Amino acid sequence: MSTSQIALLASVQQFLDRQHGLYIDGAPCAAQSENRLTVWDPATGQAIATTADASPADVDRAVMSAWRAFVDRRWAGRTPADRERILLRFADLVEQHGEELAQLETLEQGKSIAISRAFEVGCTLNWMRYTAGLTTKISGRTLDVSIPFPQGARYQAWTKKEPVGVVAGIVPWNFPLMIGMWKVMPALAAGCSIVIKPSETTPLTLLRVAELASEAGIPDGVFNVVTGSGAVCGAALTSHPHIAKVSFTGSTATGKQIARAAADTLTGVTLELGGKNPAIVLKDADPAWVIEGLMTGSFLNQGQVCAASSRIYIEAPLFDTLVSGFEQAVKSLSVGPGMSPEAFINPLVSRAHCDKVQTFLDEATARNAELITGNRGPDGKGYYVSPTLVVNPDAALRLTREEVFGPVVNLVRVSDAEEALQLANDTEYGLTASVWTQNISRALEYTDRLQAGTVWVNSHTLIDANLPFGGMKQSGTGRDFGPDWLDGWCETKSVCVRY
Ligand code: NDP
Repeated sequence: MSTSQIALLASVQQFLDRQHGLYIDGAPCAAQSENRLTVWDPATGQAIATTADASPADVDRAVMSAWRAFVDRRWAGRTPADRERILLRFADLVEQHGEELAQLETLEQGKSIAISRAFEVGCTLNWMRYTAGLTTKISGRTLDVSIPFPQGARYQAWTKKEPVGVVAGIVPWNFPLMIGMWKVMPALAAGCSIVIKPSETTPLTLLRVAELASEAGIPDGVFNVVTGSGAVCGAALTSHPHIAKVSFTGSTATGKQIARAAADTLTGVTLELGGKNPAIVLKDADPAWVIEGLMTGSFLNQGQVCAASSRIYIEAPLFDTLVSGFEQAVKSLSVGPGMSPEAFINPLVSRAHCDKVQTFLDEATARNAELITGNRGPDGKGYYVSPTLVVNPDAALRLTREEVFGPVVNLVRVSDAEEALQLANDTEYGLTASVWTQNISRALEYTDRLQAGTVWVNSHTLIDANLPFGGMKQSGTGRDFGPDWLDGWCETKSVCVRY
């Protein structure tokens, strides 16, 4: 176990000590609701802050602020170059406050400070600057038309992209800052206004980032944050009549609820949902690459990653070698609080989630599954689950089919790649998958046949701002990232002129 912890910045302590409200019309403000929600440090189980529990009336105030900002073209009416410049300044401010944001993220979410610095801040900056650049690339097309009436009339026609309006962003607790900015940035780049709701478990970083957005020059009302429960605040936001689009990341069950509500108003939805992501390891794979890549792919952020590898199918000739390699690797992982930079495995996000993950393992233990476990967390405090390999789990166990979203990965012996492919695709999910081989023909064959929105070869879980990402089957609808990202945040308007 590792214990040395980094020192807390004074600005972080001051932020934790504030009486947090909502962020509406370019400033922090008190919620009408007097209910408060507690934010817990997963490493200690201690309360570290409280936030407002917004009521539907509070949500309405935030949406109406965003709506006013949109209809008076406070943001969409600026030139694209102006918006790009302000968004780049916003990224610079996030970078300047990077350590403060990283510490807040680790304190509320539990993840390693190294991951908070590298992903929540470092990767977020890449995404922010990439998306800021898209602001000046929005374009339509000119189109030749063949309208025959009235005889002899001539027409010029073109399309233009317009921002959809007010967007609702619903953010999960696994990467609150990074996933939050995957909603804020395309909305702002397209010229929309946004009301964003972080998870009640991890609300702090987006409240701080909203202040930086105002400091960067994003007009009042364009970027609003409401904190509160999913059932009340989230539901009020996603079903509000002035919401034009919902961008949601979270569980498949909640995603379906949001899609059902959106059907009533025909609101656009992008849903990035869960996964039960397979990796197929062929017998000619490089064992060192497999172990390095799939240890990270499975255990990064304690497996609380929608894209994580959670089922590894290994061709028989390589099975024993890889099981002993994974065993050695899992037993060498250091476990400890996120504020201790050398601890790779940290607590899970909450007591409730820790208990949920533990029930999967308890069921496996009760049914005599073969479990290989790594180090334990510190005794008596924090929401720790030891990193665990499950060897050849019985098909009847819940962890073979359901998303565990914890530091648990299945290692399964298969007789050949065809069996692996059949098992890999036998799931309701279709988010990510990977193939591990040194044979390019086999790699390409299985990238074609795996049913997933992203398929990697000889790596897993590595994403990029320029590469579209999203799910097939029940892992979601729509794609984020890539050069066409803003299409999902714009309407296409056709214009046809007779001359
Ligand atoms: P949820 O889907 O419940 O939560 C995701 C977000 O949706 C949170 O902000 C939540 O708010 C909000 N929310 C909940 N109910 C509603 C609603 N009716 N209307 C609008 N918003 C709502 O996921 P959980 O936090 O319960 O996590 C459960 C499982 O979801 C995990 O075990 C994992 O399987 C999956 N998950 C997947 C993620 C991914 O990246 N794909 C990320 C996180 C979870 P609040 O938290 O305040 O209730």
